[in-house]
Amino acid sequence: MYCPFCNAIDTKVTDSRLIRENNQIRRRRECLDCKERFTTYESVELTLPRIIKQDGRRDAFNEEKLRAGMLRALQKRPISLEQVETALSRILRKARACGEREIPSAQVGEWVMEELHNLDQVAYVRFASVYRSFQDINEFREEISRLENIKK
Ligand SMILES: [Zn+2]
Repeated sequence: MYCPFCNAIDTKVTDSRLIRENNQIRRRRECLDCKERFTTYESVELTLPRIIKQDGRRDAFNEEKLRAGMLRALQKRPISLEQVETALSRILRKARACGEREIPSAQVGEWVMEELHNLDQVAYVRFASVYRSFQDINEFREEISRLENIKK
């Protein structure tokens, strides 16, 4: 960051705070050369992070794919599209707010499962069975027996 007074390169941040309303970071800076103080405003990164797939390849965050996966799990369940969209927007907000440029696909999967768990237990188990496959089959069995116990 160049000093606007003397163009020196070395400036020191003396204070940073997030302004939530417009997602900006306000920084107080001090020039190490001429000692002038000034303020900068930086936009917080609002783009969605890239996805690190299981095999290590990177992919763009795909909102459509996420929606399709959730709708597939919720097929013929008594959940409105509006509820799905609300859940989806919560996931997108988490992805943006995490502050990472890249996140593992497993993280997104966990967020989806959290949302489905609150929305509809059947959809949750459907999604978990596809998503988690055999990686933690015991946990999945426990979840199913827990659901069966609720039904009784
Ligand atoms: Zn300066």
